Amino acid sequence: MSIPLAGVIGAPVGHSRSPALHGHWLRTLGIRGYYVPLEIAQADLEQTIRALPKMGFVGVNVTIPHKEKVLAIADLVTDRAALIGAANTLIFRKDGKIHADNTDGYGFIENLKANAPGWQPKAGPAAVFGAGGAARAVVASLIEVGVPEIRLANRTKTRAEVLHEEFGGKIHVYDWVQAGNMLDGATTVVNTTSLGMEGKAEFRVPLDALSPKAVVTDLVYTPLETPFLAFARQNGCVAVDGLGMLLHQAVPAFERWFGIRPEVDESLRRAVLGY
Ligand code: NAP
Repeated sequence: MSIPLAGVIGAPVGHSRSPALHGHWLRTLGIRGYYVPLEIAQADLEQTIRALPKMGFVGVNVTIPHKEKVLAIADLVTDRAALIGAANTLIFRKDGKIHADNTDGYGFIENLKANAPGWQPKAGPAAVFGAGGAARAVVASLIEVGVPEIRLANRTKTRAEVLHEEFGGKIHVYDWVQAGNMLDGATTVVNTTSLGMEGKAEFRVPLDALSPKAVVTDLVYTPLETPFLAFARQNGCVAVDGLGMLLHQAVPAFERWFGIRPEVDESLRRAVLGY
């Protein structure tokens, strides 16, 4: 029997935590397989993807800058990947077809369910900072779980307006300079911008209107406790870090590739954090 291979394709991929994540599951579940980082230039993308199944790959994760381009290469695209306009997971099926999916929204929701058990998405409006690639997955998944209204602000307002056009009437776009106003009565609050990440600009939106009843999460996980999350916690909110989203988005991919549904637990977190 051949040894199943999986990996992450991107450029660069050296920073990716996915090899540590999937490697931990392969080891602890006793699966004889490997997960490797694969740096692939844009120009070589299609040719390389088509060669991977012939070398024993059962699938790959996809990261920047290939997440959108792979949709055109795949033979089958799930509805949610099409809606988001990007894929983070490819499955190389036995019949030769390449299947593209996006599990970021699943990971986002599962992280909140696991770490904010009392979270009620239908209880009130959500406030979302940012309208980049990750925001698209977050917005799609919030709509799917029945959030009644999504308030959205992005530095480049036109990107938020595109989301309003694509995702419909539940989305209300706010000016970036007034983004703090989105918090009034919001019960779910999400930072999807890269603000607060190590090496990036600080998150400076005023958070005075944040309700202590809000469940707050940040997609940034370096550092794990961003100043945005620290403020929320001090304010009495349930604050959920972004690492859990990364861990949970990997579950359906691993299951499809290797045939076993893995667990997200403390030992996985430690392995990914390098402890
Ligand atoms: P992206 O498509 O490049 O979007 C970046 C977002 O940040 C945009 O909304 C951008 O606004 C905003 N932004 C950047 N610099 C800013 C500044 N100085 N002031 C105001 N806004 C600024 O990136 P992405 O893929 O959506 O990722 C966003 C973050 O989420 C990254 O930190 C990424 O690591 C993290 N992420 C985490 C997970 C997870 O599993 N936890 C998954 C995916 C992404 P403009 O549109 O105005 O540029």
